Amino acid sequence: MALHLYNTMSSQVEEFHPLRDEEVRMYACGPTVYDYGHIGNFRTFIAVDLLQRFLRQSGYKVRYIMNITDVDDKIIRNAARDGVTVQQYTSKYERAFLEDSAMIGIERPVLVRATEHIPEMADFVERLVQRNVAYRTDDGSFYFRIAAFPPYGKLSKRDFGGMLDGARVDVDEYDKDSARDFALWKAPKPGEASWETSIGPGRPGWHLECSVMSMQELGETFDLHAGGEDLVFPHHENEIAQSESLTGKTFARFWFHVRFLLVEGEKMSKSLGNFFTLRDLVLKGHKPSSIRYLLTSVPYRNQLNFTFDGLKQAAVSVERLRNFRQRLQAGNYPAGCSTEMQTLASETLKRMRGALEDDLNTAQAQGAIFEMVRAANAAIDSGQLQKDDTVPLLSALEKFDEVFGVISDDDVPKMKQVLEWARSEGREQNITAELRDAVASDQYSDAEIEGKIAEMEAARKARNFKASDALRAELTAAGIVIENTKDGVRWRRK
Ligand code: AMP
Ligand code: ZN
Repeated sequence: MALHLYNTMSSQVEEFHPLRDEEVRMYACGPTVYDYGHIGNFRTFIAVDLLQRFLRQSGYKVRYIMNITDVDDKIIRNAARDGVTVQQYTSKYERAFLEDSAMIGIERPVLVRATEHIPEMADFVERLVQRNVAYRTDDGSFYFRIAAFPPYGKLSKRDFGGMLDGARVDVDEYDKDSARDFALWKAPKPGEASWETSIGPGRPGWHLECSVMSMQELGETFDLHAGGEDLVFPHHENEIAQSESLTGKTFARFWFHVRFLLVEGEKMSKSLGNFFTLRDLVLKGHKPSSIRYLLTSVPYRNQLNFTFDGLKQAAVSVERLRNFRQRLQAGNYPAGCSTEMQTLASETLKRMRGALEDDLNTAQAQGAIFEMVRAANAAIDSGQLQKDDTVPLLSALEKFDEVFGVISDDDVPKMKQVLEWARSEGREQNITAELRDAVASDQYSDAEIEGKIAEMEAARKARNFKASDALRAELTAAGIVIENTKDGVRWRRK
Protein backbone atom coordinates (compact mmCIF):
# COMPACT_ATOMS: atom_id res chain seq x y z
CA MET A 1 0.00 0.00 0.00
CA ALA A 2 1.12 3.55 -0.59
CA LEU A 3 0.57 6.39 1.86
CA HIS A 4 -3.03 7.56 1.93
CA LEU A 5 -3.96 10.92 3.44
CA TYR A 6 -7.19 12.78 3.92
CA ASN A 7 -7.26 15.86 1.74
CA THR A 8 -9.52 18.63 3.03
CA MET A 9 -9.79 19.95 -0.51
CA SER A 10 -11.38 16.78 -1.93
CA SER A 11 -12.91 15.70 1.43
CA GLN A 12 -11.51 12.26 0.69
CA VAL A 13 -8.69 9.99 1.64
CA GLU A 14 -6.37 9.99 -1.38
CA GLU A 15 -3.19 8.21 -2.34
CA PHE A 16 -0.31 10.58 -1.69
CA HIS A 17 2.53 10.99 -4.15
CA PRO A 18 4.69 14.07 -4.41
CA LEU A 19 4.75 15.99 -7.66
CA ARG A 20 8.51 15.62 -8.01
CA ASP A 21 10.01 12.17 -7.74
CA GLU A 22 11.40 11.41 -4.32
CA GLU A 23 10.92 14.90 -2.89
CA VAL A 24 8.01 16.10 -0.78
CA ARG A 25 7.58 19.84 -0.46
CA MET A 26 5.43 20.75 2.51
CA TYR A 27 4.50 23.79 4.55
CA ALA A 28 2.92 24.19 7.97
CA CYS A 29 1.53 27.37 9.44
CA GLY A 30 3.71 27.93 12.46
CA PRO A 31 3.18 29.75 15.70
CA THR A 32 2.32 33.36 16.26
CA VAL A 33 5.02 34.14 18.76
CA TYR A 34 3.19 36.30 21.29
CA ASP A 35 3.09 33.79 24.17
CA TYR A 36 4.21 30.29 25.16
CA GLY A 37 2.75 27.52 22.98
CA HIS A 38 -0.04 25.42 24.50
CA ILE A 39 -0.59 21.69 24.18
CA GLY A 40 -3.20 22.23 21.45
CA ASN A 41 -0.61 24.02 19.31
CA PHE A 42 1.81 21.18 19.96
CA ARG A 43 -0.72 18.52 19.08
CA THR A 44 -0.78 20.06 15.62
CA PHE A 45 2.98 20.56 15.34
CA ILE A 46 3.67 17.02 16.54
CA ALA A 47 1.17 15.57 14.05
CA VAL A 48 2.98 17.33 11.20
CA ASP A 49 6.35 16.26 12.62
CA LEU A 50 5.13 12.67 12.67
CA LEU A 51 4.01 12.98 9.05
CA GLN A 52 7.37 14.32 7.91
CA ARG A 53 9.24 11.64 9.89
CA PHE A 54 7.12 8.95 8.26
CA LEU A 55 7.68 10.41 4.81
CA ARG A 56 11.44 10.32 5.41
CA GLN A 57 11.22 6.78 6.69
CA SER A 58 9.35 5.93 3.50
CA GLY A 59 12.37 7.07 1.49
CA TYR A 60 11.39 10.59 0.48
CA LYS A 61 13.51 13.66 0.77
CA VAL A 62 11.36 16.16 2.64
CA ARG A 63 11.59 19.90 2.34
CA TYR A 64 9.50 21.08 5.27
CA ILE A 65 8.97 24.80 5.79
CA MET A 66 7.32 26.38 8.79
CA ASN A 67 6.73 30.08 9.22
CA ILE A 68 7.07 32.08 12.37
CA THR A 69 4.44 34.78 12.48
CA ASP A 70 6.36 37.52 14.21
CA VAL A 71 4.10 40.40 13.28
CA ASP A 72 0.32 40.45 13.71
CA ASP A 73 -2.39 42.38 15.54
CA LYS A 74 -1.83 40.71 18.91
CA ILE A 75 1.94 41.06 18.77
CA ILE A 76 1.74 44.72 17.87
CA ARG A 77 -0.78 45.35 20.63
CA ASN A 78 1.30 43.53 23.27
CA ALA A 79 4.59 45.10 22.19
CA ALA A 80 3.01 48.58 22.38
CA ARG A 81 1.54 47.72 25.80
CA ASP A 82 4.97 46.68 27.12
CA GLY A 83 6.77 49.59 25.46
CA VAL A 84 9.17 47.35 23.50
CA THR A 85 9.78 46.81 19.79
CA VAL A 86 8.03 43.99 17.95
CA GLN A 87 11.39 42.25 17.59
CA GLN A 88 12.18 42.51 21.30
CA TYR A 89 8.74 41.22 22.13
CA THR A 90 8.75 38.23 19.77
CA SER A 91 12.34 37.04 20.22
CA LYS A 92 11.60 35.71 23.71
CA TYR A 93 8.64 33.65 22.53
CA GLU A 94 10.35 32.51 19.37
CA ARG A 95 13.18 31.15 21.51
CA ALA A 96 10.65 29.50 23.81
CA PHE A 97 8.95 27.89 20.81
CA LEU A 98 12.24 26.46 19.56
CA GLU A 99 13.11 25.14 23.02
CA ASP A 100 9.67 23.62 23.48
CA SER A 101 9.74 22.02 20.04
CA ALA A 102 13.11 20.42 20.80
CA MET A 103 11.86 19.31 24.21
CA ILE A 104 8.88 17.54 22.68
CA GLY A 105 10.99 15.80 20.02
CA ILE A 106 10.00 17.86 16.99
CA GLU A 107 12.64 17.67 14.27
CA ARG A 108 13.37 21.19 13.21
CA PRO A 109 11.75 22.34 9.96
CA VAL A 110 13.25 25.11 7.85
CA LEU A 111 11.92 28.17 9.67
CA VAL A 112 11.08 31.40 7.91
CA ARG A 113 10.15 34.68 9.60
CA ALA A 114 7.48 37.02 8.35
CA THR A 115 9.48 40.15 9.19
CA GLU A 116 12.33 38.96 6.97
CA HIS A 117 10.11 38.84 3.86
CA ILE A 118 8.43 42.25 3.88
CA PRO A 119 9.71 43.52 0.47
CA GLU A 120 8.56 40.28 -1.21
CA MET A 121 5.14 40.71 0.39
CA ALA A 122 4.82 44.26 -0.90
CA ASP A 123 5.81 43.03 -4.34
CA PHE A 124 3.17 40.29 -4.18
CA VAL A 125 0.49 42.88 -3.36
CA GLU A 126 1.64 45.02 -6.26
CA ARG A 127 1.23 42.12 -8.65
CA LEU A 128 -2.26 41.38 -7.30
CA VAL A 129 -3.22 45.01 -7.92
CA GLN A 130 -1.88 44.76 -11.48
CA ARG A 131 -4.18 41.79 -12.00
CA ASN A 132 -7.06 43.79 -10.62
CA VAL A 133 -7.78 41.32 -7.80
CA ALA A 134 -6.58 43.74 -5.12
CA TYR A 135 -7.16 47.42 -4.53
CA ARG A 136 -5.86 50.27 -2.39
CA THR A 137 -8.08 52.20 -0.01
CA ASP A 138 -7.69 55.89 0.88
CA ASP A 139 -5.68 55.24 4.03
CA GLY A 140 -3.03 53.24 2.10
CA SER A 141 -4.24 49.75 3.02
CA PHE A 142 -4.71 47.05 0.37
CA TYR A 143 -7.55 44.52 0.18
CA PHE A 144 -8.13 41.36 -1.77
CA ARG A 145 -11.28 41.47 -3.90
CA ILE A 146 -13.02 38.22 -3.12
CA ALA A 147 -15.52 38.59 -5.97
CA ALA A 148 -12.54 38.40 -8.36
CA PHE A 149 -11.88 34.81 -7.33
CA PRO A 150 -15.01 32.77 -8.06
CA PRO A 151 -13.78 29.48 -6.49
CA TYR A 152 -13.53 31.27 -3.12
CA GLY A 153 -14.87 28.84 -0.49
CA LYS A 154 -13.68 25.66 -2.26
CA LEU A 155 -11.60 24.47 0.69
CA SER A 156 -14.07 25.19 3.48
CA LYS A 157 -17.06 24.26 1.28
CA ARG A 158 -18.84 27.45 2.19
CA ASP A 159 -21.23 29.06 -0.20
CA PHE A 160 -20.45 32.71 -0.50
CA GLY A 161 -23.04 33.40 -3.18
CA GLY A 162 -24.61 36.26 -1.26
CA MET A 163 -21.44 38.10 -0.39
CA LEU A 164 -21.21 41.79 -0.89
CA ASP A 165 -18.70 43.01 -3.40
CA GLY A 166 -16.45 45.53 -1.69
CA ALA A 167 -17.49 44.82 1.91
CA ARG A 168 -14.27 44.79 3.89
CA VAL A 169 -12.70 43.51 7.03
CA ASP A 170 -9.26 44.50 8.24
CA VAL A 171 -8.69 42.22 11.18
CA ASP A 172 -7.15 38.79 10.89
CA GLU A 173 -9.73 37.09 13.05
CA TYR A 174 -13.13 37.78 11.62
CA ASP A 175 -16.65 36.53 11.72
CA LYS A 176 -16.41 33.02 10.34
CA ASP A 177 -19.70 33.11 8.50
CA SER A 178 -19.31 36.16 6.41
CA ALA A 179 -16.88 36.58 3.60
CA ARG A 180 -15.45 40.01 3.14
CA ASP A 181 -12.63 41.48 1.17
CA PHE A 182 -9.72 40.93 3.50
CA ALA A 183 -6.69 43.06 4.26
CA LEU A 184 -3.52 42.12 2.42
CA TRP A 185 -1.60 45.07 3.70
CA LYS A 186 -2.45 47.41 6.54
CA ALA A 187 -1.63 51.11 6.56
CA PRO A 188 0.40 52.24 9.56
CA LYS A 189 -1.33 53.42 12.69
CA PRO A 190 0.29 55.77 15.21
CA GLY A 191 2.48 53.91 17.68
CA GLU A 192 2.41 50.67 15.65
CA ALA A 193 5.28 48.95 13.86
CA SER A 194 5.39 49.50 10.12
CA TRP A 195 7.76 49.12 7.17
CA GLU A 196 8.56 51.42 4.24
CA THR A 197 8.01 49.50 1.01
CA SER A 198 7.36 49.87 -2.71
CA ILE A 199 3.60 50.06 -2.02
CA GLY A 200 4.01 52.59 0.77
CA PRO A 201 4.36 52.24 4.52
CA GLY A 202 2.50 49.57 6.48
CA ARG A 203 2.63 45.95 7.47
CA PRO A 204 1.47 42.66 5.96
CA GLY A 205 -1.73 40.85 6.85
CA TRP A 206 -1.33 37.35 8.27
CA HIS A 207 -2.75 35.50 5.25
CA LEU A 208 -0.34 37.20 2.88
CA GLU A 209 2.68 36.09 4.93
CA CYS A 210 2.02 32.40 4.37
CA SER A 211 1.30 32.68 0.64
CA VAL A 212 4.48 34.63 -0.04
CA MET A 213 6.83 32.55 2.08
CA SER A 214 5.49 29.15 1.09
CA MET A 215 5.71 29.89 -2.64
CA GLN A 216 9.11 31.50 -2.31
CA GLU A 217 10.50 28.44 -0.53
CA LEU A 218 8.59 25.68 -2.31
CA GLY A 219 7.45 26.98 -5.70
CA GLU A 220 4.03 28.00 -7.03
CA THR A 221 2.61 24.51 -6.59
CA PHE A 222 3.76 22.30 -3.75
CA ASP A 223 2.64 19.01 -2.24
CA LEU A 224 1.10 19.61 1.14
CA HIS A 225 -0.04 22.45 3.36
CA ALA A 226 -0.78 21.79 7.03
CA GLY A 227 -2.29 23.43 10.10
CA GLY A 228 -4.91 23.08 12.80
CA GLU A 229 -8.55 22.73 11.72
CA ASP A 230 -9.33 26.32 12.72
CA LEU A 231 -7.15 27.54 9.87
CA VAL A 232 -9.34 26.11 7.07
CA PHE A 233 -11.38 29.27 7.06
CA PRO A 234 -10.53 32.04 6.63
CA HIS A 235 -6.73 31.66 6.71
CA HIS A 236 -6.20 28.87 4.21
CA GLU A 237 -9.11 29.92 2.04
CA ASN A 238 -7.48 33.33 1.78
CA GLU A 239 -4.05 31.91 1.09
CA ILE A 240 -5.55 29.97 -1.83
CA ALA A 241 -7.40 33.01 -3.19
CA GLN A 242 -4.27 35.19 -3.16
CA SER A 243 -1.90 32.57 -4.51
CA GLU A 244 -4.05 31.01 -7.20
CA SER A 245 -5.36 34.28 -8.56
CA LEU A 246 -1.75 35.36 -9.02
CA THR A 247 -0.32 32.18 -10.56
CA GLY A 248 -3.39 30.59 -12.12
CA LYS A 249 -2.07 27.28 -10.75
CA THR A 250 -3.04 24.94 -7.92
CA PHE A 251 -1.37 26.29 -4.78
CA ALA A 252 -1.11 23.23 -2.49
CA ARG A 253 -2.14 19.76 -3.66
CA PHE A 254 -2.97 18.27 -0.26
CA TRP A 255 -4.51 20.09 2.68
CA PHE A 256 -3.73 18.42 6.00
CA HIS A 257 -5.73 19.63 9.02
CA VAL A 258 -5.39 18.48 12.59
CA ARG A 259 -8.46 18.21 14.79
CA PHE A 260 -8.60 20.47 17.81
CA LEU A 261 -7.60 19.06 21.16
CA LEU A 262 -9.97 19.04 24.14
CA VAL A 263 -8.84 19.04 27.75
CA GLU A 264 -10.84 16.91 30.19
CA GLY A 265 -13.70 16.95 27.68
CA GLU A 266 -13.81 20.71 27.19
CA LYS A 267 -12.44 23.29 24.85
CA MET A 268 -9.20 24.54 26.32
CA SER A 269 -9.50 28.05 27.65
CA LYS A 270 -7.75 30.20 30.21
CA SER A 271 -11.05 31.08 31.89
CA LEU A 272 -11.94 27.39 32.45
CA GLY A 273 -8.56 26.78 34.10
CA ASN A 274 -7.83 23.91 31.69
CA PHE A 275 -5.28 25.73 29.60
CA PHE A 276 -1.79 24.23 29.64
CA THR A 277 1.47 25.11 28.02
CA LEU A 278 4.07 22.35 27.67
CA ARG A 279 6.04 24.00 30.45
CA ASP A 280 3.01 23.93 32.78
CA LEU A 281 2.89 20.15 32.44
CA VAL A 282 6.62 19.66 32.96
CA LEU A 283 6.45 21.90 36.03
CA LYS A 284 3.89 19.44 37.39
CA GLY A 285 6.49 16.70 36.97
CA HIS A 286 5.31 15.15 33.69
CA LYS A 287 7.93 13.94 31.27
CA PRO A 288 8.18 15.38 27.75
CA SER A 289 8.12 11.82 26.37
CA SER A 290 4.78 11.08 28.10
CA ILE A 291 3.29 14.27 26.67
CA ARG A 292 4.54 13.45 23.17
CA TYR A 293 3.27 9.90 23.41
CA LEU A 294 -0.18 11.04 24.54
CA LEU A 295 -0.41 13.67 21.82
CA THR A 296 0.33 11.06 19.16
CA SER A 297 -1.90 8.35 20.59
CA VAL A 298 -5.05 9.45 18.76
CA PRO A 299 -4.96 9.75 14.95
CA TYR A 300 -4.72 13.39 13.90
CA ARG A 301 -8.24 13.64 12.47
CA ASN A 302 -9.90 12.25 15.59
CA GLN A 303 -10.78 14.15 18.68
CA LEU A 304 -8.07 13.85 21.30
CA ASN A 305 -9.27 14.40 24.82
CA PHE A 306 -6.27 15.30 26.93
CA THR A 307 -6.63 14.08 30.54
CA PHE A 308 -4.19 13.65 33.41
CA ASP A 309 -5.18 9.99 33.64
CA GLY A 310 -4.28 9.65 29.99
CA LEU A 311 -0.95 11.31 30.67
CA LYS A 312 -0.15 8.82 33.44
CA GLN A 313 -1.10 5.96 31.13
CA ALA A 314 1.18 7.39 28.46
CA ALA A 315 4.07 7.47 30.94
CA VAL A 316 3.47 3.78 31.69
CA SER A 317 3.44 2.95 27.97
CA VAL A 318 6.72 4.74 27.32
CA GLU A 319 8.27 3.04 30.34
CA ARG A 320 7.22 -0.37 29.04
CA LEU A 321 8.87 0.30 25.71
CA ARG A 322 12.06 1.50 27.39
CA ASN A 323 12.15 -1.44 29.79
CA PHE A 324 11.60 -3.86 26.96
CA ARG A 325 14.48 -2.37 25.02
CA GLN A 326 16.73 -2.51 28.06
CA ARG A 327 15.71 -6.11 28.60
CA LEU A 328 16.65 -7.04 25.04
CA GLN A 329 19.95 -5.21 25.23
CA ALA A 330 21.04 -6.36 28.68
CA GLY A 331 19.62 -9.89 28.96
CA ASN A 332 21.68 -13.05 28.65
CA TYR A 333 20.05 -15.25 26.04
CA PRO A 334 21.12 -18.60 24.64
CA ALA A 335 22.71 -18.55 21.16
CA GLY A 336 20.51 -19.05 18.11
CA CYS A 337 17.32 -17.62 16.71
CA SER A 338 13.72 -18.68 16.36
CA THR A 339 11.55 -18.26 13.29
CA GLU A 340 8.69 -17.30 15.58
CA MET A 341 10.42 -14.19 16.90
CA GLN A 342 11.80 -13.29 13.46
CA THR A 343 8.27 -13.47 12.04
CA LEU A 344 6.87 -11.50 14.97
CA ALA A 345 9.30 -8.65 14.27
CA SER A 346 8.71 -8.59 10.52
CA GLU A 347 4.91 -8.80 10.92
CA THR A 348 5.02 -5.95 13.40
CA LEU A 349 6.96 -3.80 10.96
CA LYS A 350 4.42 -4.56 8.27
CA ARG A 351 1.50 -3.74 10.56
CA MET A 352 3.06 -0.48 11.73
CA ARG A 353 3.72 0.62 8.18
CA GLY A 354 0.23 -0.40 7.06
CA ALA A 355 -1.33 1.57 9.93
CA LEU A 356 0.65 4.72 9.21
CA GLU A 357 0.00 4.44 5.49
CA ASP A 358 -3.69 4.41 6.35
CA ASP A 359 -3.97 8.16 6.93
CA LEU A 360 -1.45 8.00 9.80
CA ASN A 361 -3.33 5.68 12.09
CA THR A 362 -0.99 6.19 15.02
CA ALA A 363 -3.21 4.31 17.47
CA GLN A 364 -2.96 1.15 15.39
CA ALA A 365 0.79 1.51 14.96
CA GLN A 366 1.19 1.80 18.72
CA GLY A 367 -1.11 -1.19 19.17
CA ALA A 368 1.11 -3.25 16.86
CA ILE A 369 4.30 -2.47 18.77
CA PHE A 370 2.69 -3.33 22.10
CA GLU A 371 1.51 -6.67 20.81
CA MET A 372 5.08 -7.38 19.84
CA VAL A 373 6.32 -6.33 23.28
CA ARG A 374 3.76 -8.58 24.96
CA ALA A 375 4.60 -11.62 22.83
CA ALA A 376 8.37 -11.14 23.11
CA ASN A 377 8.20 -10.58 26.87
CA ALA A 378 6.26 -13.83 27.17
CA ALA A 379 8.95 -15.58 25.13
CA ILE A 380 11.65 -14.20 27.41
CA ASP A 381 9.72 -15.23 30.52
CA SER A 382 9.39 -18.78 29.25
CA GLY A 383 13.06 -18.92 28.25
CA GLN A 384 12.33 -19.16 24.52
CA LEU A 385 14.02 -16.01 23.32
CA GLN A 386 17.41 -16.55 21.71
CA LYS A 387 20.29 -14.19 21.27
CA ASP A 388 19.83 -13.46 17.55
CA ASP A 389 16.12 -12.75 18.03
CA THR A 390 17.03 -9.52 19.77
CA VAL A 391 18.31 -8.01 16.51
CA PRO A 392 15.03 -7.86 14.53
CA LEU A 393 13.04 -7.00 17.66
CA LEU A 394 15.34 -4.07 18.47
CA SER A 395 15.21 -2.97 14.87
CA ALA A 396 11.38 -2.93 14.93
CA LEU A 397 11.53 -0.77 18.07
CA GLU A 398 13.94 1.54 16.31
CA LYS A 399 11.65 1.91 13.28
CA PHE A 400 8.78 2.70 15.61
CA ASP A 401 10.87 5.32 17.34
CA GLU A 402 12.05 6.96 14.13
CA VAL A 403 8.45 8.09 13.78
CA PHE A 404 7.19 8.33 17.36
CA GLY A 405 10.39 9.60 19.03
CA VAL A 406 9.78 8.56 22.65
CA ILE A 407 12.04 5.62 23.50
CA SER A 408 15.42 7.32 23.81
CA ASP A 409 15.47 8.73 27.30
CA ASP A 410 16.54 12.34 27.61
CA ASP A 411 13.64 13.46 29.77
CA VAL A 412 15.58 14.44 32.84
CA PRO A 413 17.94 17.00 31.28
CA LYS A 414 14.96 18.53 29.49
CA MET A 415 12.99 18.74 32.73
CA LYS A 416 15.98 20.32 34.39
CA GLN A 417 15.95 23.07 31.77
CA VAL A 418 12.31 23.83 32.55
CA LEU A 419 13.10 23.96 36.24
CA GLU A 420 15.94 26.39 35.60
CA TRP A 421 13.71 28.48 33.36
CA ALA A 422 11.05 28.68 36.09
CA ARG A 423 13.68 29.85 38.58
CA SER A 424 15.03 32.47 36.20
CA GLU A 425 11.50 33.76 35.54
CA GLY A 426 10.63 33.99 39.24
CA ARG A 427 8.10 31.16 38.93
CA GLU A 428 9.43 29.13 41.88
CA GLN A 429 5.93 28.68 43.27
CA ASN A 430 5.03 26.64 40.17
CA ILE A 431 7.81 24.09 40.66
CA THR A 432 6.31 20.94 42.16
CA ALA A 433 7.94 18.33 44.38
CA GLU A 434 7.40 15.84 41.52
CA LEU A 435 9.56 17.90 39.21
CA ARG A 436 12.27 18.35 41.86
CA ASP A 437 12.33 14.57 42.43
CA ALA A 438 12.56 13.83 38.74
CA VAL A 439 15.42 16.25 38.28
CA ALA A 440 17.26 15.00 41.35
CA SER A 441 17.83 11.69 39.56
CA ASP A 442 20.07 13.56 37.16
CA GLN A 443 22.89 14.11 39.66
CA TYR A 444 24.46 10.79 38.64
CA SER A 445 25.45 9.78 35.13
CA ASP A 446 24.36 6.35 33.82
CA ALA A 447 27.89 5.03 34.38
CA GLU A 448 27.93 6.25 37.98
CA ILE A 449 24.58 4.63 38.67
CA GLU A 450 25.75 1.35 37.18
CA GLY A 451 28.95 1.59 39.25
CA LYS A 452 26.97 2.08 42.44
CA ILE A 453 24.65 -0.79 41.61
CA ALA A 454 27.64 -3.05 41.00
CA GLU A 455 29.05 -2.00 44.40
CA MET A 456 25.67 -2.60 45.99
CA GLU A 457 25.49 -6.08 44.49
CA ALA A 458 29.03 -6.88 45.58
CA ALA A 459 28.23 -5.74 49.14
CA ARG A 460 25.07 -7.85 49.19
CA LYS A 461 26.91 -10.94 47.98
CA ALA A 462 29.50 -10.36 50.71
CA ARG A 463 26.54 -10.21 53.11
CA ASN A 464 27.45 -6.64 54.02
CA PHE A 465 23.80 -5.59 54.12
CA LYS A 466 24.49 -2.34 55.88
CA ALA A 467 26.60 -1.15 52.97
CA SER A 468 24.24 -2.45 50.29
CA ASP A 469 21.23 -0.86 52.02
CA ALA A 470 23.06 2.47 52.30
CA LEU A 471 23.86 2.43 48.57
CA ARG A 472 20.29 1.57 47.70
CA ALA A 473 19.01 4.39 49.92
CA GLU A 474 21.44 6.83 48.31
CA LEU A 475 20.23 5.94 44.80
CA THR A 476 16.56 6.01 45.80
CA ALA A 477 17.00 9.47 47.34
CA ALA A 478 18.46 10.61 44.04
CA GLY A 479 15.29 9.50 42.24
CA ILE A 480 16.64 6.21 40.86
CA VAL A 481 14.18 3.34 40.96
CA ILE A 482 15.85 -0.03 41.52
CA GLU A 483 14.09 -3.30 40.82
CA ASN A 484 15.29 -6.83 41.42
CA THR A 485 14.17 -9.03 38.55
CA LYS A 486 15.13 -12.48 37.52
CA ASP A 487 17.33 -10.96 34.81
CA GLY A 488 19.24 -9.15 37.56
CA VAL A 489 18.98 -5.64 38.98
CA ARG A 490 17.26 -3.10 36.74
CA TRP A 491 17.15 0.63 37.27
CA ARG A 492 15.47 3.66 35.82
CA ARG A 493 15.15 7.31 36.58
CA LYS A 494 11.91 8.30 38.19
P1 AMP B 1 -1.32 29.95 16.56
O1 AMP B 1 -0.03 30.16 17.28
O2 AMP B 1 -2.51 30.38 17.35
O3 AMP B 1 -1.29 30.60 15.19
O4 AMP B 1 -1.51 28.38 16.35
C1 AMP B 1 -0.51 27.54 15.88
C2 AMP B 1 -1.10 26.23 15.39
O5 AMP B 1 -1.77 25.53 16.46
C3 AMP B 1 -2.13 26.39 14.29
O6 AMP B 1 -1.92 25.37 13.32
C4 AMP B 1 -3.44 26.18 15.02
O7 AMP B 1 -4.44 25.70 14.14
C5 AMP B 1 -3.06 25.12 16.03
N1 AMP B 1 -3.96 25.04 17.22
C6 AMP B 1 -4.40 26.05 18.00
N2 AMP B 1 -5.20 25.58 19.01
C7 AMP B 1 -5.27 24.23 18.87
C8 AMP B 1 -5.94 23.16 19.57
N3 AMP B 1 -6.69 23.36 20.65
N4 AMP B 1 -5.76 21.89 19.10
C9 AMP B 1 -5.00 21.64 18.01
N5 AMP B 1 -4.35 22.59 17.31
C10 AMP B 1 -4.47 23.88 17.71
ZN1 ZN C 1 -0.52 30.15 7.35
